[in-house]
Amino acid sequence: MPELPDLTVVADALHAALTGRPVRSAEAPGPLAVRGTPAELSALVGQRVVEIRRRGKFLLIDLERDRIACNPMLTGRFQLAAPGDKLPSKTAVVLGFGPRTGAPRDVARWTRDATWLPADDAEPEVRYRDPTQMGKIYLVPADVERPVPGLGGAEQGPDADDPALTLEVWRDRIRKHPGELKNLLRNQAFVAGIGNAYSDEILHAAHLLPFRKRSSLAAEEVDALYAATRSTLADAIEVLRARVPPTFEKQVRDFLAVHDKGGQACPRCGTRITEVRAGGFITSYCRGCQH
Ligand SMILES: [Zn+2]
Repeated sequence: MPELPDLTVVADALHAALTGRPVRSAEAPGPLAVRGTPAELSALVGQRVVEIRRRGKFLLIDLERDRIACNPMLTGRFQLAAPGDKLPSKTAVVLGFGPRTGAPRDVARWTRDATWLPADDAEPEVRYRDPTQMGKIYLVPADVERPVPGLGGAEQGPDADDPALTLEVWRDRIRKHPGELKNLLRNQAFVAGIGNAYSDEILHAAHLLPFRKRSSLAAEEVDALYAATRSTLADAIEVLRARVPPTFEKQVRDFLAVHDKGGQACPRCGTRITEVRAGGFITSYCRGCQH
């Protein structure tokens, strides 16, 4: 499942590749993934890309007038491609873009001069594919009130890497959530962007067990969880920037410390990593150094 680090890298990359380009074509080979009408999809054509960014576990494409909000859920992936490239199976949406005039604004420093960036006169495509077809692409025309479940409002707390989420704000927000730490971190209403994999990683970094209750934490453990959240996400983004492009559709997870590494040695203390499967999700942790 794409989480904050994965989607941050994809959003930075697509922003650098596509801002300033007009949408030339918009098609939905897998129309079940699209929330919106065929007319709304066609109406995207001609609008330029203003900004592409991540919010929580959503990828947002802001065009001159309308918005596209993508929630990839478990298996949705984005591919940056040339029009002639073979279309992957289970492709749900294909957006074609025209040439760009003028330099793109506000591009992430790490994307500058990247070899995978399409030339200004190229006509790149973004393909959204989703083998399990659980993800959704919401078309949000400027003049239509279309709610996007899970995006914004009380359903979504601040991004876990938002500079405005200071330690003081974290301490204040976490008080309302007495339950198990893994569920707390995955609760998008607490902080947004963390899922099953990075919640395991953050808890390992914080030396805390996933099934421990927040109400049992000492004040310094609450602070340690904050520090681990920030550093784990920032470190992962750094790794993914170097390893994901140009295959944005591939999810890189092999560098993680504990998640999905049941039976292997903990990289910190050498204890065999414990793996629990519940509700289709894996939770991995170390009984040697998480308490
Ligand atoms: Zn350990």
